[in-house]
Amino acid sequence: MTSEQGTVRATGRQVRPRTEGWSQKLDGEGRPALQFASPKRGKPPVHLADFTPEERVARVKELGFPGFRAKQLATHYFTHYTSDPVDMTDLPQAGREELVYGLMPNLLTEVRRLATDKGDTIKFLWRLHDGALVESVLMRYPGRITLCVSSQAGCGMNCPFCATGQAGLTRNMSAAEILEQVVRANRVIANGELGGKKKDDHSMERVSNIVFMGMGEPLANYNRVMHAVKTMVAPQPEGLGMSARGITVSTVGLVPAIRKLADEDIPVTFALSLHAPDDELRDELIPVNSRWKVDEALDAAREYFEKTKRRVSIEYALIKDMNDHPWRADLLAKKLNARGRGWVHVNPIPLNPTPGSVWTSSDVAVQNEFVRRLNDAGIPTTIRDTRGKDIDGACGQLVATEDDKAAAEAAPIV
Ligand code: SAH
Repeated sequence: MTSEQGTVRATGRQVRPRTEGWSQKLDGEGRPALQFASPKRGKPPVHLADFTPEERVARVKELGFPGFRAKQLATHYFTHYTSDPVDMTDLPQAGREELVYGLMPNLLTEVRRLATDKGDTIKFLWRLHDGALVESVLMRYPGRITLCVSSQAGCGMNCPFCATGQAGLTRNMSAAEILEQVVRANRVIANGELGGKKKDDHSMERVSNIVFMGMGEPLANYNRVMHAVKTMVAPQPEGLGMSARGITVSTVGLVPAIRKLADEDIPVTFALSLHAPDDELRDELIPVNSRWKVDEALDAAREYFEKTKRRVSIEYALIKDMNDHPWRADLLAKKLNARGRGWVHVNPIPLNPTPGSVWTSSDVAVQNEFVRRLNDAGIPTTIRDTRGKDIDGACGQLVATEDDKAAAEAAPIV
């Protein structure tokens, strides 16, 4: 058999994406349902981190305080990672709580924390003001600390191999809810609660890298995600003073939003979750492929590179007998090389099985062959590690279970 590109398809077992143990939501025409719009729920409380510096001043004045207090509050939040009035001794005692709670309401209540044996990976389960649950994962690597953040409670993209997708979209997160995950992680690090630090390392530490690979499709919550990104890169104390290069925005491939992101002039790292180089399979594996096809998504990724000069990542979860065939590696290399050289690298990741999933990760020999073929074709390819797997904190495993919901209901409201 030959594909439309003329690549010879070796006969091999072809497992098709189908769901077992859970049922995928379908639309009126029987296709996997896609949810782009956030269901209407009560708005999260507004927070200093939702505002621009000018808006913060206006809000402080509205509450009857002098405008310069805004900068003091931002300094506490973005450089000392605190929103506790007790820590803010530079603010007059009278009215302090009113001011602080007025601008920094509680956004995330910690429900549960799971750590790996070494303690160098921590998964947090957070409850939002309305009871919605989200997770973030903090990981120490040599020379960097990465936080995997959520951008939505749930996800509307319905990818059958991803645990988050199975429950659908609860709602978009606000910019401040996204940023609060980083501030809370920085507080945990400052308190010495993230393990794996070398004894002789006395450097001040904080989150250096952010990946939008937690729950949600970041580009389906575009404006709030962009406000969060802009605040991450704004210099302290206006923002977190992070480097844009250390921030990775990962998407299923919402093409118009990819173009918009490229025009923002913020050189974040861009990752496309491709997972299949052919529409036949990708239509089923990534339901949004019914809107934007493989070639359109790859063209948008290439344009992202041209505008930003930032090398793009292609994410590829290797699923046994489904998308791990040698001919697919060749077809992927061919499609990437057709769009130029040196603009892209591929990040295969062994599938992390999710509850109810009947699929497994590819055999190591098959993974290695997949990588070898891409590398031989001149595409830099490195397998991504599956950190946090033992605490269900690896890619695609983030989900709020019924247990979590019970725990969240029992957790005290701070
Ligand atoms: N919605 C965005 C970001 C969230 S998922 C996106 O799809 O890119 C982050 C990455 O984890 C994506 O590449 C996603 O395809 C991948 N992923 C999802 N489920 C997975 C699983 N079970 N095993 C391995 N990777 C998975």
